[in-house]
Formats: sequence, structure tokens, C-alpha cells
Amino acid sequence: MRNPAYDILFDPLAIGPLMAKNRFYQVPHCNGGGYRDPSAVAAMRGIKAEGGWGVIFTEQAEIHQTSEITPFIELRLWEDADIPALRRMSEAMKQNGALAGVELAYSGINGPNFYTKEVPLAPTALPIRTFTNDPVQARALDKNDIRNLRRWFVNAAKRTRIAGFDLICLYGAHGFGIFQHFLSRATNQRTDEYGGSLENRARFVNEVIADMKDAVGDSMAITLRVSLDETIGQLGFSNAELREFIEMNKDLPDLWDLAHGTWEDCSGPSRFKEEAAQEALVKGIKSLTAKPVVGVGRFTSPDVMARMIRQGVIDFIGCARPSIADPFLPKKINEGRVEDIRECIGCNICITGDMTMSVSRCTQNPTFMEEWRRGWHPEKIEPKGASESVLVIGSGPAGLEAARALSLRGYEVAVAEARESFGGRVARERLLPGLSAWGRVMDYRLYQIGQRSNVQLYPGSALSVDDVLAFGFQNICIATGSRWRADGVARQHVVPIPADAAMPVFTPDDLMDGKRPTGRVVLFDDDHYYMGGVLAEWLAREGHEVTLITPSAFVSEWTRNTLEQGAIHVRLIEAGVKIVLNTGLASIHAGAVETNCTYTDQRGMVEAESLVMVASRQQTDGLYHALRARQADWAEAGIRSVRLIGDAAAPGPIAWATFAGHRYARELDSGVWTEDWGDSLAFRREVTALS
Ligand code: ADP
Ligand code: SF4
Repeated sequence: MRNPAYDILFDPLAIGPLMAKNRFYQVPHCNGGGYRDPSAVAAMRGIKAEGGWGVIFTEQAEIHQTSEITPFIELRLWEDADIPALRRMSEAMKQNGALAGVELAYSGINGPNFYTKEVPLAPTALPIRTFTNDPVQARALDKNDIRNLRRWFVNAAKRTRIAGFDLICLYGAHGFGIFQHFLSRATNQRTDEYGGSLENRARFVNEVIADMKDAVGDSMAITLRVSLDETIGQLGFSNAELREFIEMNKDLPDLWDLAHGTWEDCSGPSRFKEEAAQEALVKGIKSLTAKPVVGVGRFTSPDVMARMIRQGVIDFIGCARPSIADPFLPKKINEGRVEDIRECIGCNICITGDMTMSVSRCTQNPTFMEEWRRGWHPEKIEPKGASESVLVIGSGPAGLEAARALSLRGYEVAVAEARESFGGRVARERLLPGLSAWGRVMDYRLYQIGQRSNVQLYPGSALSVDDVLAFGFQNICIATGSRWRADGVARQHVVPIPADAAMPVFTPDDLMDGKRPTGRVVLFDDDHYYMGGVLAEWLAREGHEVTLITPSAFVSEWTRNTLEQGAIHVRLIEAGVKIVLNTGLASIHAGAVETNCTYTDQRGMVEAESLVMVASRQQTDGLYHALRARQADWAEAGIRSVRLIGDAAAPGPIAWATFAGHRYARELDSGVWTEDWGDSLAFRREVTALS
């Protein structure tokens, strides 16, 4: 039963004319699917309704053709033809008594309009502010444009009502929405009645909310999402100015939705931000207004959530990532199953789906965005098929997730792990600076497996082919992972880098095994995700003189997709790491490396006593290939299938491994996967109907 300390999280609370059944508020979040995958997005939100959220929002919906953020895939509400897709979402959200919200966005200075080819409109004529420095500028809205824009918001509000929504969130945070662009002196340099004083800068949002209340306010609630602090220095909309704004406009929206300044700040990864990191910026705002306040902070602990409400910091617990990692978080708290919560690890892999315009993944919840495509439910799984037993070899994220899901299906499962401890790469990487929360990947799975009688764990069991053939398991799942390469093969070099053996070379595995370089260190990063930056910072803080060399124009380039790149660069500078960009390694010598410019091939020498090689990983697939070579012996050994999954098949981020493990478990005996792979698509796809 529910812990009474958490009762406060289940108190209903009014938002405008509506009543939220509890305090669990899924704030708008992107998912990479948007208008391209409306059924997939609707099903994903529907799962959250089932999981007990009181309020559930869409991602941003663009209200008019004059402002869109192609290439990013969000929702569109440009005309009546967009209503059915939105209606599908609201209907899914409203199951189980949740309120359905839609976030309306006019991107202003943030929308390059690549798709519609319209001239962008913004409070002040400035270059468009995007991740990619697009060579596009906006025209300043004139009075007629402002009148039009107010009408477009009203049109959009009327459409959202037809689409079945209860709440409208006006987007003015993260630098993305026009309301922030008007409020901030950085993006609003107007000299008319819409610029200058705070009262003038707040005029536009006041007008739009008044218009909308006239149009739909009798039945819908209007919320305003604003930045807690724009964090761009003197000109920006600061926390002090936000408080002044709220005080001046106490009753403006039906709810204040407080997000942090930039998206990077707001969705801070666990490497840089703790749970409830925005508390100081939010504290006290509630006393300025009688309207309810929602705030975010990667909340996964019910104790922290309850404290936030008890101490009057916020009224609603805003969650994006925690609701992705565990859509059933409210239900689990309600049922007294707190230990079953699949806590977000703060890796921001979910955000990469949006940033790469693909479809989002979650490291912790492999069913995210597969609810409709593959019919995967985060809490339910098909009973087992024809066979009985599975031997999972390797206990990294792939092996542990396979074992967890297989056990739920009812298979007899054994997990053999060569090391004395479980967890694979996660057990090792969680010990690196800033990555401890990533350990939740193994903690959650080991706990869940520990609750089940049909999984046996065998540590210290490095299996050979003969062992596997002797054990008598029907299905063999090989999740034996990968090892970092020392020879430099990655992107710059597809064959080993010419090297003098006198230069000591350390891989990330060596460092995680406790080996340490001596003297000056060159770290070569041709991997481009987090590992190079993490190790460079770590070694520098341990007292080494570290030079990080990378062929990329950015340190840890791929972390631009996880919104970490800027913070990583700052950390490296602070730690005293010398950063050399656009530079490769031509050859390795005793006491030095020869570098080459990525563009001109101009050579240089960097002296060092040690080289740390963060290049690529070699899959540990020897056991798999040896087993395949003994296929003639399978029948006698009782083996029906052998599959290679996770990093052992192809190394990737941890989310790829949990997905692979989950997929293995779902597909076993299902006919979806066969040795010859089949000729049909493995998931459902929304195909655009021809006009
Ligand atoms: P993934 O990310 O795909 O889950 P990991 O590298 O995290 O892969 O985990 C793989 C695990 O498999 C490691 O803990 C490793 O010790 C273990 N392993 C590798 N080969 C064998 C083997 N032959 N028998 C048992 N365990 C193995
Ligand atoms: Fe959390 Fe990572 Fe999942 Fe995103 S991908 S919800 S940050 S665990």
C-alpha cells in the first residue's frame, strides 16, 4: 500500500476551470516522432495515462506556417487537416482521468523556416538562433503582424479545443518560444509599446492570454511556460526579472510552468546536475502568485517530490525524462512499489532522438516510442513461447535486460558472467567521475531479477563453447560485450596507426582496470562521445598534463546531441586540459605523437610519455563464432537458437544494448525473428496518405 508520506502527491488540485487528479505533471517533451509518427506518439502518451499521470502534455505544436523549426520534428497545427492527429493524442492522454495538454509554439527568432520558406518573424530583426547557426535572419514584427499573430494563436486555441485538449501551454522558455523573445531584452530591442520596460515587454503575452481566455477560457486552462533564468548575462531575462514579471502579472495564466533558461540548463544531464537542481531558482515564486506552479528537476525520488510540495516550493511535480524512463512512476508510488521505479539515469539519450530527427530511445526504458511501432508495453509482456530455457552469456546492459524481460515471460534463465561482479560496462563506467547515476541501469535490473525465482546468476563463469554445449539450454543469448581497441582503428584510421611499441598506450578499459599512465598524456579521441572527455578531465584532475587531440571541430562532438558538449568543454578548460581540434594522429613514437591537420595534413609533434587511445571498440564475439562453427552439435546439445546481441554484435551506446536485450526477449519464439530475418518490416510505420 501507499506510504502515507506520499499522500500529498495524490491530492487533486484545480488548474483554471479544471481539476488535476494528482500532482504528477508530464511537462511537454520531444520524442523525435512528432508529426511524422502521430500514432506512435499518441500511444506513447497513452501509456503515461495508464501509468497514472495527472496531467500529460504533447511536445510543442507549431501554430502557423510562418514559424517552424525544420529539421526538428515536432507537431504542427497549421490547418484543420492537422486536427485528427492531435485528437488521437488527446484521446490517448485522457484515458484514466488525466488532463490532456498541448504546447503551442511560435518559434520566432528560433525558427529558420526551411520547410515553408516563409520569412521568419520575431520581436526584433536579428539572426535566427538555432543549434546550427543557420544563415537566416528574421524580420521584425510590425503592428499588423502582431495583430495577425494574436489571431493565429486564437485560431490554434480553437483547433486544440476541437482536437479535445483540456490545457494549453504557451511556450516561452528554453529560448524557443516567442513569449520569451518578447520578454527578454536580448531578443526584444523594440522602442514601441511592446519593448523597453518590463510592462511593455509583457504586453504581448498579456494580449495573447486575454484573447485566448475569451476564445476558449470557459472550458480550457491556459498555462505559461517561462524561463527561470535566461542565463545569457546582463541583457537576458533573469530570475529576478522573472519574479518581478510574475508579481506584476500574478493571475495571468491559470498555472505557471517554470523551466530553466536554455534547454541545456533545463535538461541538465546527471553528469552535471543533481536531482532538483532548479530548487533555488524556483523557491519563493509560489508566494508571488495564487496560481499553481509546476517545476522540473529530473525528479525520480518520491521523498524529494513530496518534500517539494510539503515545503511549498512547487504544486506540481513536472517530469519529462523521469516519465520517459518510467511511465508508471505515479502508479508505482501509489501502489507502494517504490523499489520498482525505473529511475532515469540522466544520460539524455532520449534527447538525441529529437536532435538527430530519428525517433527517441531511452537507456532505461527500451519500450519508449515502440509502444505502437512494435506493440511493446513497459510493464506487460507476452507469456513465453514454445521453448523453456535461455542461457544468457554476459551481464552487461544487454544481458541483464534480456534476462529481466525473459524471466517476466516465464523462461528458465541463467546468466553467466566471466567477472566476479555483474553489470558489464556499466559496473565499470559508473565509477568514472560524474557517471555514478548510470549505475541505475544495472541496479534496477539486478533488483528485479533478484525478485524472481526463475533466474539464476553465475558470477566468475567465463564460458567456453564446450561449457555451452554441455549445459543443455535451449536458447543461447550471447551478450559478451566489447573491448576498447589500442591500435587506433576508428574513423581517421580504418587500419592500425603506425606505432613504436616503446610508447605506452592505454585504452579506457586499461584505465578502468586501474592502470595509470605516467608523465605527460596525449588523449586521442576519435570516438567523439563522452568517454574521451570524461577520461581527459579525470586524468587532468589526478595531476597529469593532458592534451586532448581530436579530428573533430568539437570536443566530444556527439554530445551536442545530449546537450552536454558545452558543459564538457568548460569542464576541460577548468581542469587545465589542452584542447587540440581538427587534428589527427599520423604516427606514434617513443616520447611523442606526430599529428596531422584534418584539412591540410600539415604535420606537428606533441611530446608525451603516455598515450590514451579512445578510438573504437572490438566486439567480443569469439564465443559466438566458435558456437556457430559447431552448429552440427547443437541438436544433440538441445540447442534451438543462438543469437548475438548488444555490444558483442556491434558496439554502441548503453541504450542500444538495453534495446537489444529487450528485443531479444520479446522476439524469442515469437516468429518475428528467424535465422533468415524474414522479408517484412519488423515494426509498424505510419505511411502518409496521398492527397
Ligand atoms: P553490453 O553493453 O552489450 O551489455 P558489456 O560489455 O557491458 O556488453 O557486457 C558484456 C559482459 O560479458 C562483460 O561483463 C564480460 O565480462 C562478459 N563476458 C564476455 N565474455 C564472456 C564469456 N565467454 N562468458 C561469460 N561472460 C562473458
Ligand atoms: Fe533518462 Fe536517459 Fe532515459 Fe532520457 S534516455 S529518460 S535521460 S534514462
